[in-house]
Amino acid sequence: MAWDGISSRLIHSGDGQFQRRLAASASLPETFPLYLTSVFTFGDAGAVDAIYEKKAEGYIYSRMASPNADAAASVIAAAEDSEDALVFSSGMAAIAATVLSLVQAGDHLVASPVLYGGAREFFANELRRFGVEVSFTGPGRGTVASLARPNTRLVYTETISNPLMQVPDIRELAGEAGRLGIPLVVDNTFATPAVARPLALGADVAVYSATKYLGGHSDIIAGAVTGNRDRLEGIRRFRILYGTILGPVECRLLARSLRTLDLRMARHSENGLQVALFLESHPKVEKVFYPGLASSPSRAVAARQFLNGRFGGMLSFNLRGGEKDALALIRAIGGVPFAPSLAGAAATLSYAVKTSHRLYSPLDLAEAGITAGQLRLSVGLEDAGDIVTALEDGLRCL
Ligand SMILES: *Cc1c(COP(=O)(O)O)cnc(C)c1O
Repeated sequence: MAWDGISSRLIHSGDGQFQRRLAASASLPETFPLYLTSVFTFGDAGAVDAIYEKKAEGYIYSRMASPNADAAASVIAAAEDSEDALVFSSGMAAIAATVLSLVQAGDHLVASPVLYGGAREFFANELRRFGVEVSFTGPGRGTVASLARPNTRLVYTETISNPLMQVPDIRELAGEAGRLGIPLVVDNTFATPAVARPLALGADVAVYSATKYLGGHSDIIAGAVTGNRDRLEGIRRFRILYGTILGPVECRLLARSLRTLDLRMARHSENGLQVALFLESHPKVEKVFYPGLASSPSRAVAARQFLNGRFGGMLSFNLRGGEKDALALIRAIGGVPFAPSLAGAAATLSYAVKTSHRLYSPLDLAEAGITAGQLRLSVGLEDAGDIVTALEDGLRCL
């Protein structure tokens, strides 16, 4: 076939066929290339059949599966030592796919009371529209065992709660859920596989907002799920049907960030402990919430469950001056921006009552221990001494 006209030549030069030449050449790229292609081409229809029937490897259409999504997922699976992983267009997409693939109308699930705001809204209000009931555990409400019903299809918790950084005993929860034959899903966003491995502790599925530490540089919105292959099949089906796979550019950025996950989490954790100790000693600070502090009620569970003596980079603190001081510190502190997210390279401050937990009722806020005098600090990768100085200077202005 000869493409003669200029438009034809422009369209048919340097396209996917180029790849065939490269694949047959003596060289391989050191890093996995970016595949910006919505679709793949085939010499005959039988080749597509073979892929659909899992008799041959290959890609068909990039909403279903894509090389960059599989490459990024394979790094996450390696980090967690899980059989398989999937990447999503956001953490919420990963959570929704996981939950909706496990439940149907008439089912019930049990969740921790203090969850990421979006997840809490999804459980408390959205699932009801699909005929799924949710019970939240907690003092006065009950445990997984006491709340479970014959139609309970999943138990859901977070490795480190936000903003009080409480750490549930995952092994115990997994045992409880396992005895009832109910899968345990754990949001491991705050810990990452470099601090805790929920699957190794007995959870069935771990979900992630890869927007946070996995991405780690505040430049992508992404999500991920890890678990064994059978478990992930239903979640993959949901991802295809609802179109929530992560795009190739974000996948490429995510895969790149993951190379340094362990190094970054070691530094976030070292800095986290140093900053927590400083804040705990400061007269204007009433209380610090960080699982690595001896004063934390979660210290023992965290030390048992977390890896390499790490406790992560997230902490919260209550100011003695309440709301007035919280607002004043946000304004006064230099170099640590107020940013309603977390887990980037730079230290950032957040304010739960106005951001992540703004949909909570006053009663829910009180129960979760969230107050107007409470700030959350995402301790960055800077030199710890500089973060301490920034806080010291800011606190002096109160
Ligand atoms: C941010 C976050 C989410 C939601 O993730 P997105 O990527 O924003 O959709 C879920 N869980 C936790 C713990 C989070 O911090």
